[in-house]
Amino acid sequence: MSTIIYVGLGSNEGDREAHLVAALTALSRIDAVAVLRCSSLFDSAPVGPPQPRYLNAVVALDCDLSPQRLLVILQQIEKDLGRRREQHWGPRTIDLDILFCEGQVVADPHLQVPHLELHKRRFALEPLAELSPALLHPVLGMTVKELLGKLAPQDVRRSEATAWPEASLPSNET
Ligand code: ATP
Ligand code: CA
Ligand code: CA
Repeated sequence: MSTIIYVGLGSNEGDREAHLVAALTALSRIDAVAVLRCSSLFDSAPVGPPQPRYLNAVVALDCDLSPQRLLVILQQIEKDLGRRREQHWGPRTIDLDILFCEGQVVADPHLQVPHLELHKRRFALEPLAELSPALLHPVLGMTVKELLGKLAPQDVRRSEATAWPEASLPSNET
């Protein structure tokens, strides 16, 4: 049975949009994964140590893999796109996080879903809310839209896409 999984993408090194597009291409090539929709791009202030601003987006995947299997593949894509793991929350060509698996809570040592920081992060909630504002956070009992409404302002701005296929797919989900 397939699940809708929401993956957050972020880049703050080199050609940020090119890295997001390359990750999207890699995601679309995974057997057992279909990319359903892509959010707009958002330019956001970094969290953690001083570093360049991020470009963020969220994609909705129709996924026949377990979240654990998907994470292994996401980490391989990060590696292929030149991600180095040197500093926690440090700059990176690409970061791929599993934000949400519809109807599932995962609490493994190496994987927590919903992502534990999701509800604090406008750079993740804004693009997620574009795709699915009515998605219910199974632990906090609030929708994505409600979580966003509770959040203090953060420096997150919509950014024009040049190569990223924003809003090119139908948006009929709530
Ligand atoms: P953050 O998770 O706060 O956004 P980060 O993305 O910089 O920080 P990484 O260095 O990319 O952190 O990942 C650290 C570990 O987080 C990974 O090795 C992975 O096992 C774990 N992890 C736990 N939950 C998730 C999740 N939902 N998506 C991706 N990785 C996760
Ligand atoms: Ca992250
Ligand atoms: Ca990560």
